[in-house]
Amino acid sequence: SSFLLGTMGAISQNSGIKSSVQNVETKVDSVLNLMTLEEKVGQMVQYNGSWDLTGPASEVGNKEKEDRLKKGLVGSMLNVLSIEATEKAQRLNMENSRMKIPLMFGYDVIHGYKTIFPVPLGETASWDLEAAKESARIAALESVAEGVNWTFSPMIDISRDARWGRIMEGSGEDTYLTSKIAVAKIKGYQGEDLSDAKTIAATAKHFAGYGLAEAGRDYNAVHIGKNELHNAVLPPFKAAADAGVATFMNSFNTIDGIPATGSERLQREILKGAWDWQGFVVSDWGSISEMIPHGFARDKVHAAEIAAKAGSDMDMEGGAYEAGLEQLVEEGKIDESIIDEAVRRILRVKFKMGLFDDPYRYMDAELAASVPFEDHKNTARDIAKKSIVLLKNENDLLPIKSSVKKIAVIGPLADDKDTPIGNWRAQGETNSAVSVLEGLKNADLDAEITYSKGVTLGEGERSFLMPLKINETDRSGIPDAVAKAKEADLVVMALGEDAFQSGEGRSQANIGLAGLQLELLKEIREVNKNIVLVLINGRPLEITWSSENIPAIVEAWQLGSESGNAIADVLTGKYNPSGKLPVSFPRAVGQEPLYYNRMNTGRPSNDLHVTYSHYTDIENGPLFPFGFGLSYTTFDYGDVELSSKELQAGEGITLSVPLTNSGDIKGKEVVQLYIHDLVASVARPIKELKGFELVELAPGETKNVEFTIDEKMLEFFNASDKWEAEEGEFELMVGGNSEDLKTIKFNYVK
Ligand code: BGC
Repeated sequence: SSFLLGTMGAISQNSGIKSSVQNVETKVDSVLNLMTLEEKVGQMVQYNGSWDLTGPASEVGNKEKEDRLKKGLVGSMLNVLSIEATEKAQRLNMENSRMKIPLMFGYDVIHGYKTIFPVPLGETASWDLEAAKESARIAALESVAEGVNWTFSPMIDISRDARWGRIMEGSGEDTYLTSKIAVAKIKGYQGEDLSDAKTIAATAKHFAGYGLAEAGRDYNAVHIGKNELHNAVLPPFKAAADAGVATFMNSFNTIDGIPATGSERLQREILKGAWDWQGFVVSDWGSISEMIPHGFARDKVHAAEIAAKAGSDMDMEGGAYEAGLEQLVEEGKIDESIIDEAVRRILRVKFKMGLFDDPYRYMDAELAASVPFEDHKNTARDIAKKSIVLLKNENDLLPIKSSVKKIAVIGPLADDKDTPIGNWRAQGETNSAVSVLEGLKNADLDAEITYSKGVTLGEGERSFLMPLKINETDRSGIPDAVAKAKEADLVVMALGEDAFQSGEGRSQANIGLAGLQLELLKEIREVNKNIVLVLINGRPLEITWSSENIPAIVEAWQLGSESGNAIADVLTGKYNPSGKLPVSFPRAVGQEPLYYNRMNTGRPSNDLHVTYSHYTDIENGPLFPFGFGLSYTTFDYGDVELSSKELQAGEGITLSVPLTNSGDIKGKEVVQLYIHDLVASVARPIKELKGFELVELAPGETKNVEFTIDEKMLEFFNASDKWEAEEGEFELMVGGNSEDLKTIKFNYVK
């Protein structure tokens, strides 16, 4: 073993210089060649590390786990929740194991670590790629300083169903927008190439289809064909792979009958084959063993065989690989080359991360001390205010006028410092956000501010795992709220969802204002109609009554640490809202799944609110469409022009549209470009987002906004199973949301 130690020493010394790809491959092979089968399988095992690693290893299971760490039979841990525990685990491994291969420490750093940013759906509403990258960079820095070196983010599942609780964790319903955000997030977490000590490895998840769970029920089966898979679901993952994301996570669901975790087609043929991606795939939590209840594997050993063959490289807390892989190789059921391939991928990432150079570099006390939390707060406020979407603003209610001398801040979420942190918060974060009430008080308005909760929303224990109990009966606080509203010039109502109403396992059949909230809102409106409704929520809500009866509505999602300050920035006009919805808001839950980029039926109509395949009992179409959001100023789109009505293969044409700020304050507009392929070898959506630009204009200013149209934009996965642009007529649509668009046509010729 002294020979081995010498070898490892030489390997790590050499890697001081920034390694070329070739170098990494050589190192990976030299380590792999020295490993026993048992050690290789160990690299493919990931433990949940939430036991007290710093205490004595008393519990039997944990004693066993610590023994395996000492033998170097663990590749990674997740949820190791302190610097001390991380250090202990890494030392157990590094100081006792034969091969001394550093552990990776994974954690769900989903929307910030210490400084909490808006939940991903909210942040996407900013359409600001720099913001998405910056919050990821900060999250990486803060978590690296505490020992985390791998995040299970970004979640880039397309989701079109507001019932699905995890819609909060992704970028909404659009494939193009999600792809752009995915790349920004990955660059933010990983930096250029992961070699910087202040970066962490990212994960593209969940591969694939998880967000299209039938009926919006988490973990449910997904029924989509090739067309939808390739054109709607896979492109963000392809973008992530091309951006060099270090890892992928597969998913719990079956897709067309095959569990994604056991899908050779997805993992081997597409991801590692066609896309030639070099990182490793981690399973989702226990998803290898979950193939047993799916009815796809007989037992853990069988599940391990299926998953390894399908290309799942690491088993997250499933125990299946630990239970079965060695035996399967020894019995000749799995070729050792499959194990080698998985371990090669895992080692490759570890080398790229510089872990062999310094397994403890993330535990540098100086690094931890140098994290500028105050700066991060400012950035969090900046990103939070950009994520807010103004949905309605009648009677000139907003921004709050100086004539308003008394404001009643009302509602279960008005002084809630916890809900804005959202679900998938970092461990230990509770009650640490600025509430709406605090934010308005901080704003130093020349008005008296009163507060009344009115009703409570969630009751009892609130946690990641517990179902939330909603208050349906306690009305005792309503009279006080009504009295305060009656005396006020303006009412700010903060309603929506508890943090633990959305998130994993939190699908809902109803998506209205839960509990007694609507009742409270109606009673307040009886005494004061000047209401600004501030919504704090993780999913699109059904707010049809509010949209008809409340003059101003502000969508404020779960905005993180600086939530209340950011909301006050918008309500007071310090910031002119610029966010746009990344997901359609329905009129009724029965419309779900609801999304703008749908297919036509054989019964089309230009008026999508009336006669396309429709429901007879409601007005059709969304309440608020994808891409929608108002500003305190107004934007006018002029005539759309094209440099040519014909696009030749290999060339580009330019679309231009003059945009004018026709109001009297500065504002920012998200100009959106949509494309429709009128006739193709597979039916194409009626419109698909293919470009956008954030344009800031002074009052009265006009800018010519341009987009280059090229054949890349026209490509799709067609009837010949190829990504191609097909000849023919196309519509281009430009505007400020997915419904209010100006159209121009052109021909594409090859
Ligand atoms: C989730 C993943 C998450 C993992 C680890 C699973 O239940 O589906 O998204 O990364 O747990 O916490």
